[in-house]
Amino acid sequence: MVKRQARLVRVWLGMVVLGVCFAMGVPAFAGDAKKVRDIYDYEAQKAAKGVKKIAFIAGTEPHGGRGNHEFLAAAIYLATTINAEYPDAYAVVHTRKKGPKDLSHADAVIILMDHGGWAVNPAVKEAMDRKAGFMAIHYGVEVNKGEQGQHFLKWMGGYFEPFWSVNPHWIPKFDTIGKHETSRGVKPFAVNDEWYYHMRFVDGMKGVTPVLQAVPPLETITSRYKEGTKAGGHNGNPDALKAVQAKQPQVVAWAYDRPDGGRGFGFTGLHFHKNLGEDNTRTLLLNAVAWVSKLPVPETGVRNQSLSRDELEKLIDDGKLAISRRGI
Ligand SMILES: [Zn+2]
Repeated sequence: MVKRQARLVRVWLGMVVLGVCFAMGVPAFAGDAKKVRDIYDYEAQKAAKGVKKIAFIAGTEPHGGRGNHEFLAAAIYLATTINAEYPDAYAVVHTRKKGPKDLSHADAVIILMDHGGWAVNPAVKEAMDRKAGFMAIHYGVEVNKGEQGQHFLKWMGGYFEPFWSVNPHWIPKFDTIGKHETSRGVKPFAVNDEWYYHMRFVDGMKGVTPVLQAVPPLETITSRYKEGTKAGGHNGNPDALKAVQAKQPQVVAWAYDRPDGGRGFGFTGLHFHKNLGEDNTRTLLLNAVAWVSKLPVPETGVRNQSLSRDELEKLIDDGKLAISRRGI
């Protein structure tokens, strides 16, 4: 009788623990629970020893409905996968609204968001002055000309400069992939996205290695901008038009070796969350996170599994749950 009661108590306690795990958004049995790093436990990351520390900062502003600008979902995927593949890395995910005030422990900062405020953020700047890696994805690559732009040129070698760069939706054919550590395992591909181009780069593109580039169709500018009219912030300008008329390949993903030894990476796509389901896009992004953090990139790229539609949707839900349950 006593034994039976004890067993019942154990079962009941087990259920309580599971319930608490669920309520906290903590995976209870995801692989080996001890090895799964909590991507929202910023103090644990700070305290961790002997690991590369990566901070993702993701915007959560809705933009064009579910499936567009799902930056938090992408950050969750990238951080979780890097943590799973690299025992010597600890990546965490912040939201832009509750972003980190201290990055003095960070080995790399990766931003996916709206607004250029982080380009002049003192914590990010301190990390960059220590040669921490820097990477920006999609809207994250756009900042204003001036101090923000100058910082991005220094940290990442290039950026989206309003009235110079453009942001059409199109399908580049990446027939030849730039040879670089970040393109390991990446094969030629073509996918529809809002691939910003005519980026502002450092003089002579010194230190910049183009990884993805293609010649855009002329309509990507002429359908939104009329020759001889005033330059638009995003839709077109005389310089971008001239470059496309001359069929100059436009670089939409690049690696940057800074003169100080730090590393940067820019990726202009990923307006559509579903493109994280594209194998080459996913591998390139994971490789780039590893590379800017000075983690070794395997010969065939960072190992990853294909993502089903349900898994992609779940990542969006995971982000919403993390906001409500973890207060990120
Ligand atoms: Zn977009």
